[in-house]
Parts: sequence; C-alpha cells; structure tokens
Amino acid sequence: MEKVKLNNGIDIPWVGLGVFRLEDNKEAERVIKTALSVGYRHIDTAMYYHNEEAVGKAIKNSGIPREDIFVTTKMWNSDQRSGKVKEAFETSLKKLDLDYIDLYLVHWPVEGKFIETWKKFEEIYKTGKVKAIGVSNFKQYHLEALAKESTITPAVNQIELHPYLVQENDLSYCKKAGIRVEAWSPFAANQTGLFDEKALTDLADKYSKSPAQIILRWDYQRGVVTIPKSANEKRMVENLDIFDFSLNDDEIKSINLLDKNLRIGPDPDHVDF
Ligand code: NDP
Repeated sequence: MEKVKLNNGIDIPWVGLGVFRLEDNKEAERVIKTALSVGYRHIDTAMYYHNEEAVGKAIKNSGIPREDIFVTTKMWNSDQRSGKVKEAFETSLKKLDLDYIDLYLVHWPVEGKFIETWKKFEEIYKTGKVKAIGVSNFKQYHLEALAKESTITPAVNQIELHPYLVQENDLSYCKKAGIRVEAWSPFAANQTGLFDEKALTDLADKYSKSPAQIILRWDYQRGVVTIPKSANEKRMVENLDIFDFSLNDDEIKSINLLDKNLRIGPDPDHVDF
C-alpha cells in the first residue's frame, strides 16, 4: 500500500476504508476483517459511526501488527459543545481497545467551540496517545481562525470531495498550508449517478478501469487521500487497484469540469447538529 507523509512525518496510506453507515457491529467487523485481508491498512471511523468497537476487534483478530494499520477516529460535535474533549478521546481509545490512535479529527467546526477544542487536541497530541491530529469539514476561514490561535497546524482536513464538488480553492489553500486533504464520500456516496458520467466512463474504457478507479486515481494525482466505503470484497479490491496507470493533465481537467458545487452532506457554514 502506497503511503504519503503528513506534515509531522507520519505516513498515511493513500487509500483507506471508510466505515460510515456500518452500525451493525457484527457486519462492520466482517467488513473490516475482509478489508484487512485484501490489503487495507487504513480504517476511517468516528465516534458518530458507532462502530469503533468493531474496528478494534477486527484489528486485534487480524494478526496484523498494530503499527502496520493506520486508524482514524473523530470527536463528535456534542463532546465539543460540552467541552468534554479529553473524555471523548479516552472513550474512543477504550472502544477501539488500542494504546494509541493514528489520527484524531475534529469532526465538524462547531461555531464558537472549535478553537478551544483544537487547543485540547494539541494537549492530547503531546501525550503521545495520538500520532497526528487534524480536522474535518473545515473551510479556509475556519483554518485561518485556527492558525491565528494555535501552535500546531492540522495534519489533515477531511472534506467532502468528489467530481461534483472538486474543492479547488480549499485544496489549493491546504496544500500551501501543509495540510493534507482527505476526500470523504469520494463517490458522492453513489447517490448521484456520478459513475455514469461520460467523462469518467470514457477514461474507464481507455484504461480498462472502472469509473470508481478513475475517480480514486484523479484524487491521488491531485494529492488527495481517499477513504471509499465498500462492504463488498470485489469492490474493496478494485478501490485499492489504482497505482498502475496514470491520467494526463487534460484528463484531470476533464474530470474537474464535472464540478457542480454539489454537496451531498451538510455545508460546514451551518453546523447545527
Ligand atoms: P462513498 O463515496 O465512499 O461511496 C460508498 C458507496 O459506493 C457505497 O454504496 C458502495 O457500495 C459504493 N461503492 C464502493 N466502491 C465502489 C466501486 N468500486 N464501484 C461501485 N460502487 C462502489 O461514500 P461514504 O459516504 O461512505 O464516504 C466514504 C467515507 O468517508 C465514509 O465511510 C466515512 O468514513 C467518511 N465520511 C466522513 C464524513 C465526515 O464528515 N468527515 C462524512 C461522510 C463520510 P458497496 O458497499 O456495496 O460497495
């Protein structure tokens, strides 16, 4: 599995498995076990997904050394509002049954809270129980506000990003700031007909790949880490198999042109949940 370095020198695999909407822990454990067996070494969960226990069990039972697997989890908004940041971190660690987490993210920029939360993340980072800290769903103005008040630059900003929401401005800002962008819902959760776009199916034909692989390759070439979700072994394997071909600049641009500024998830300007 190819990896890339975060701004503090920690390696993150380019492709991970997202496990949102897998709340049945038995099913989640089966899915993660399968993913690990076919080569995944990066799992993206969150307190909010209610499956941290399953992630921990699948890792323990896999026989794969802990240090070979990159685990991300995220702190939910209610813990930010109550100020129980360190407690939330300890709860996640316990549910995952791990000694450390690779990447801990502020799930959403809760207004009036996220700077205070980030300061507590910096303290958690200093304990060594998390290898890297980052944010999710932060726009440029959130990141700028954070930079003014804090000492550690987030290692990652995990945002909604797919060919219908190419995020050129935020991507370019994060690149300059040394923040690695991760794409959530890289396939727009398969809810929009994205896979049928001619720009993608033509490239899929040209390279004997699937539209999903073309999207993941487009992410990779833009420097974006991805965490596609699949519960299906064949598609899991497919989503890892993107490192043996290359899109040219015009092809990257043709995918960028699919942009509709379309969000399938909430807009981070209004975090009222
Ligand atoms: P994705 O964009 O990853 O799409 C998942 C859907 O695509 C599923 O229906 C899956 O079906 C299907 N699929 C997967 N691989 C293929 C393929 N090769 N060909 C065709 N269909 C495929 O959606 P998610 O919303 O799950 O996003 C991915 C991850 O991002 C989440 O699991 C979560 O970890 C993270 N996320 C983070 C958020 C945040 O706020 N930080 C918000 C939302 C998501 P099947 O399972 O049957 O293969």
